[in-house]
Amino acid sequence: MVDILSLVPNASGVALAQWLEERGEPAYRARQILPRLWQRPVGSWDDATELPAALRRALAGALPLRRLSLSTRQVSQDGTEKFLWDLGDGEAVESVLIPEGKRRTLCISSQVGCALGCVFCATGRMGFRRNLSVAEIVCQVREVMLLDVALKPTNVVFMGMGEPLLNWEAVDGALTILNHADGVAIGARHITVSTVGILPSLAKLAQRPEQFRLALSLHAPTPELRHALMPIEKKYALPAVMEALARFRRRVTLEYVLIEGKNDALEQADQLAQLARPLGALVNLLPLHPGGAPDLSPSPRARMIAFERRLRRHGVEAVLRRSRGLDISAACGQLRVELEARRKVRHRLRRVAIGEDIDPGPPQYPGPDPREPRRAAGVQDFDRHARPGAPGPGHGERGAAPAVSAAGGERRGAGDQYPMSAFQKSTVSRGSGQRPSITRAMRRAATCFRIASRSWGTRAASERRSS
Ligand code: SF4
Repeated sequence: MVDILSLVPNASGVALAQWLEERGEPAYRARQILPRLWQRPVGSWDDATELPAALRRALAGALPLRRLSLSTRQVSQDGTEKFLWDLGDGEAVESVLIPEGKRRTLCISSQVGCALGCVFCATGRMGFRRNLSVAEIVCQVREVMLLDVALKPTNVVFMGMGEPLLNWEAVDGALTILNHADGVAIGARHITVSTVGILPSLAKLAQRPEQFRLALSLHAPTPELRHALMPIEKKYALPAVMEALARFRRRVTLEYVLIEGKNDALEQADQLAQLARPLGALVNLLPLHPGGAPDLSPSPRARMIAFERRLRRHGVEAVLRRSRGLDISAACGQLRVELEARRKVRHRLRRVAIGEDIDPGPPQYPGPDPREPRRAAGVQDFDRHARPGAPGPGHGERGAAPAVSAAGGERRGAGDQYPMSAFQKSTVSRGSGQRPSITRAMRRAATCFRIASRSWGTRAASERRSS
């Protein structure tokens, strides 16, 4: 069985022609069938009613159409839409559709999770799960078109979950399908690949003849600061990345998320201008999405404007973007992380309710501790827990501070690396007459509940709007 949606248009044309010939079908059928892959997509071959019923049945058996099933759709008041796609193997990825005038930009994912652990990113917290296939990447666009053909994106950006250049083989094929006249037919200049600077794949992207756009996730003007925000700096250092951009031949965009007190000082704008000016780069200034990093804050509006003005004074073209989808979980990876936390809460509460013992485990996010790569690299985290003499961890954060027992004293144990909020303490107090395993389980369930409940209200409202 051929996964025809994973083939670039030339290859799918050859495979289809061969299959039709083997069945003794006329060659013109290929001209009827191929547009149904990307140009006028159908959800199943049954919907291609211009084809004879016997041929549709044969197509369904030999060349089935892979689908992503929509597990959640949220619509923001500003028109931004977020989709969570179920991949059928227990994994899920997100896409965000951002309408602006006549332009509809779809932000798509290239990996499930991400191994790079940038401190401001919800996807980074999740850890890496797996790469997406060509079909899983491009079908994010196809599924949006199947929902409503009027939603067909005019622009596509690889800025969703994952680092696209760490999944180059699949992204390479996806770029071809998105751009090809027999594929989705989106102009190369309307397709942007965003990367932290994976140099070997960046060179391969630069060799492609199409005018795909490149955005570099910069976020810090010096190697030291970038190292603290983005552990990848250790492998691909800023000077080498800037050199690669200078050889890119096409204009690049520098993405810069403004984080209060970290990278938003005017001196840092001066340093950023020194990097951007020789490249003639456009600088995209992005407010930190509050859902992306609970322990970091977006810069105040006045400081963002001053930062933008400072760049312009240096002759650098800079644009201060608006945060979109604030009333939905629109930060990259945020929806997936929150839904997983909710599922975990339900699961734990159910187990507590039936009095089942629960192994202690990370209550907050699935996957490995996202701070591990930074710790291994000797990078100091930007949070109060990493500073010497600072008080212990706060809400739901890992750390070495002692937890407080139900009786009010301090204790340490296998399940005590997570400190308790006031709500948790009260829960534990109420449960102090229970078996110890149930008490511990209740504390963990309370932690998960607190995380998941942060945006339940706004999500419910947005889902009501979308239904
Ligand atoms: S910002 Fe991009 S590269 Fe960094 S952790 Fe998030 S998805 Fe990965």
